[in-house]
Amino acid sequence: MDWFDYRDGQLFCEDVNVDELAARVGTPLYLYSQRTLEHHYDALNRAFAPLNPLLCYSIKSCGNINLIRLLANRGAGMDIVSGGELYRAQQAGVPTNKIVYAGVGKTDSEIVDALEAGIHSFNIESEAEFENIAAIAAATGATGRAMLRVNPDVADPNTHAKTTTGARETKFGVDIDRAVRFFERYSAHQHLKLTGIHLHIGSPIYSPEPYVRAIRRALVLIDDLRSRGSTIDTLNIGGGYAADYESGASPTYEDYAAAIVPLLQDQNLSIIMEPGRTISGNAGILITRVQYIKTGGTKIFVIVDAGMHHLVRPAMYDAFHFIWPTHVVPDHVPAQRSADMPNQGLDAVEVVGPICETGDVLAAHRALPPVARGDLLAVYTAGAYGMTMVSNYNAMPRPAEVLVSSDRATLIRRRETYDDLVAPERDPADV
Ligand SMILES: *Cc1c(COP(=O)(O)O)cnc(C)c1O
Repeated sequence: MDWFDYRDGQLFCEDVNVDELAARVGTPLYLYSQRTLEHHYDALNRAFAPLNPLLCYSIKSCGNINLIRLLANRGAGMDIVSGGELYRAQQAGVPTNKIVYAGVGKTDSEIVDALEAGIHSFNIESEAEFENIAAIAAATGATGRAMLRVNPDVADPNTHAKTTTGARETKFGVDIDRAVRFFERYSAHQHLKLTGIHLHIGSPIYSPEPYVRAIRRALVLIDDLRSRGSTIDTLNIGGGYAADYESGASPTYEDYAAAIVPLLQDQNLSIIMEPGRTISGNAGILITRVQYIKTGGTKIFVIVDAGMHHLVRPAMYDAFHFIWPTHVVPDHVPAQRSADMPNQGLDAVEVVGPICETGDVLAAHRALPPVARGDLLAVYTAGAYGMTMVSNYNAMPRPAEVLVSSDRATLIRRRETYDDLVAPERDPADV
């Protein structure tokens, strides 16, 4: 569900004409629909309302402070994985007691900042990490709360290996059969209160079923821990809920909720969820301009001004992003977004970027309406893991970000300049 639609063959973001906007702001450009972002947050919240969960939006999926603020205004907490993301959340005015902090490599200074901020909880990824956070809390006189991230050994076969996190022998969490021992050792700690379990099995997860398996295992563990005298008040079931990379590809929130809610009602647990891409994914598109068209062997290359440096998912995860011109003849207005479009009048092309890497591909063997130099293409479902994974490789400035609400467009991140690229290098100093 989103508000990127064609009117008379011209793409609009809500009520803003995308071509006119791109003429003013330039390309490449990340373009977000406020209504779409808020719709996904609200719909997920509604579907899981019987559990009254704390929805902690995953900042690493899309972290512009202006977008975070919109979600915080609706009551969202935040899922962070670094001190930089804590800073983003604080700059956006997120209440710090709604922030949960995961990540296998938290540094001492990040831990100090998070304790000082009074975050909701640390998701603990190892024994060594618990001991370090507890020692820092004791030394600074702070008190923190911890959830043990358990690894339920559940993997979704449809999730790319690089984004599977809930299987044994990933670097995340603690094997579930070490959890009892973990609580025996640490649950009496005075400065770091261990009162819950955290799961995050990977992303995207295209069916409710892996969640059901993981939650069932966590509930067995929680029963066991409670029977041994531990206080377990919270279960954080993580993120990974899919976005629609193709029309209708992901389960609805009602589908996820129908499977998950009954498991967790009447368990006497506070529930936390960490949705990222399902909220931000469909809320953003990447607008790029066609620079050149050339042939190579039997292939036609459409060379655009965005690439792997702006959207790395195709190169890194073989991810599919629907791509379509922003202005088309009536016959080519897409009825749905899919890898198999009805083929009349389309050309099979490779959509590639300007980076000096063969892997700099946005779409391989893709059927597209005919395009010419200067045309704009929209890369859909780019809101999540788009801008947050942008790099300056090949000394390319980061794109601008624009937020649209109805007929109003707001520049929420200016395009980087060449000076931004070299400014940190300008004053060498003895160290
Ligand atoms: C990345 C991450 C998420 C969000 O994943 P999505 O696929 O964007 O929903 C949630 N929890 C943790 C711990 C993560 O690392």
